[in-house]
Amino acid sequence: MKNIRNFSIIAHIDHGKTTLSDRLIQKCNGLTKREMFNQVLDSMDLERERGITIKAQSVTLKYIDKNKKIFFLNFIDTPGHVNFSHEVFRSLSACEGVLLVIDTTQGIEAQTIAHCNYAQKLNLTILPVLNKIDLPNSNPKKVLEDIKNIIKIPIQDAVQCSAKTGQGISELLKKIVQIIPQPSGNVQNSLQALIIDSWFDKYFGIVSLIRIKNGSLKKKDKILIIRTKKIYIIENLGIFTPKRMPKDKLYNGEVGWIIFGSKKIDTTLVGETITSYKNPSNTLLPKFKKIKPKIYAGLFPFEPKKYILFRDALNKLKLNDISLFTEPDNSKILGFGFRCGFLGLLHMEIVQSRLEREYNIKVISTAPTVIYEILLKNNQILLLDNPSKFPKLDTIKEIREPLAICHILTPIKYVGEIIKICIQKRGTQQKIIYHDTCVSMSYIIPLSEIILDFFDQLKTISSGYASLEYKFKKFKKSDLVKIDILINHIKIDSLSMIQHKKNALKNSKKIIEVIKKIMPRHQFNIPIQASISNTIIARTTIKQLRKNVIEKCYGGDISRKKKLLKQQKKGKKKMKQIGNVNIPQEVFFSIFQMN
Ligand code: GDP
Repeated sequence: MKNIRNFSIIAHIDHGKTTLSDRLIQKCNGLTKREMFNQVLDSMDLERERGITIKAQSVTLKYIDKNKKIFFLNFIDTPGHVNFSHEVFRSLSACEGVLLVIDTTQGIEAQTIAHCNYAQKLNLTILPVLNKIDLPNSNPKKVLEDIKNIIKIPIQDAVQCSAKTGQGISELLKKIVQIIPQPSGNVQNSLQALIIDSWFDKYFGIVSLIRIKNGSLKKKDKILIIRTKKIYIIENLGIFTPKRMPKDKLYNGEVGWIIFGSKKIDTTLVGETITSYKNPSNTLLPKFKKIKPKIYAGLFPFEPKKYILFRDALNKLKLNDISLFTEPDNSKILGFGFRCGFLGLLHMEIVQSRLEREYNIKVISTAPTVIYEILLKNNQILLLDNPSKFPKLDTIKEIREPLAICHILTPIKYVGEIIKICIQKRGTQQKIIYHDTCVSMSYIIPLSEIILDFFDQLKTISSGYASLEYKFKKFKKSDLVKIDILINHIKIDSLSMIQHKKNALKNSKKIIEVIKKIMPRHQFNIPIQASISNTIIARTTIKQLRKNVIEKCYGGDISRKKKLLKQQKKGKKKMKQIGNVNIPQEVFFSIFQMN
């Protein structure tokens, strides 16, 4: 059997994962210098633009040690943002080891600890890599201490390097093959392979990234997805070097791509186990957890006639985005669309911009909300992900909101300010531990307070140094009310929001003022009102437009009149007409501009 090492890199954003991956590829001659001009692993434009990696990818590198022994290193990329922990888990499930990359000028971040916990749960070998040692303010000694005390893993194998200059990279490769175990499994057994990722390619149809645990797979093999019982024929297969390189066969321990030869979208592939149709195995490989969405929002095609295209595009996105939840939705105001569940705001933004860029579908989205648990008087429990579907008040016994446990890691000097915002966000402190130079604290905070801008606020007050990791803890009874917004006396269902009673009046006033600012003036007065159970609690008015654009034409020049009207229409293009009022997209997002 070949010598194989499967590993992933865990790193907080900006700690050097991409630079290190490029360096490893270059060192193992995966690409020529000319091809290296771009950072190759982040393949989607969108990712490159934002500097984060969304989709797991892999590269097989050939490494020859000093005794001329050949190793194949399968490096499976993981995304690095706080919203994408589930994808990290997914990549880790296909590995025996991880490189824990830490920027020695920054130190450990909360999310790094969370990802290490995953790796430990999966029994992976963790190799600490202390990066950026070329920088004058690098402090590897402190980082080593922190790894020992905070993450609690052995540090004797830690490698110090600079991904930028290449210093220490040979040492790192040596350590990778030395301490990360060879994958187990047997080529004689029947096929078992895990689908790590899956995406839709315009030319090839469905392409998946797989890791073979047992047996082998070749072109034209008939395969069976064990759980769903679906059958496919493998049209082609191979590895990424990082270029797509076709192979005759893939063996146990290997990571590679397969083309299913199906243009029909199957959104149930990721995480499934493949086996051979002829000689099937019945045993599923451990599946990574499907993470439930944390926030929900309505997405509607701007042009209602694009609904079918919109639906198909969402399905294609769901192929490799197993946490994207969609369900047909219908708004009185915005028409047919989908209620979508996302892992966080960034995830939502990415889905929206992928729809616009890759599928040319402009969408209107409503403000995101968390899911609430409502206990009805008939003892039924309703899970509410859409405030406009809030049941009648007299049918409700109790409303419960989701709470999250937040782990924050920060340099000591920002602790006071951070505690302040945690309290402001209705948080309760669970634990606070002082380390040498940093503090780790845990708070329970309502999820609705976290999703909008908590992370941004943390970053702002700590000059970017504090880091956050949070997860759902439980539902808890809370004093919540539904606020409706009326524009020109029409209730805009997609603007309804659920708020804590304490903040209801203050936030209602804020939101109608925000809407007033965004809305264009019309030829008539437009009242904007906030109401709770049909009682108006706040109101403001957009005064009518005095200047009539055609007034100046003295009724004479008709072509000039037309031109002016056309110009005025152009200005309205990105607006949704509701009744006789034009509402810009930003209004549906006004909740973000309240602070
Ligand atoms: P990622 O977000 O973890 O993928 O981080 P990147 O690889 O994009 O690196 C973030 C920044 O740190 C970039 O500007 C890199 O050039 C820089 N960087 C990465 N590794 C090193 C290093 O070893 N030394 C120095 N001086 N800079 C580095």
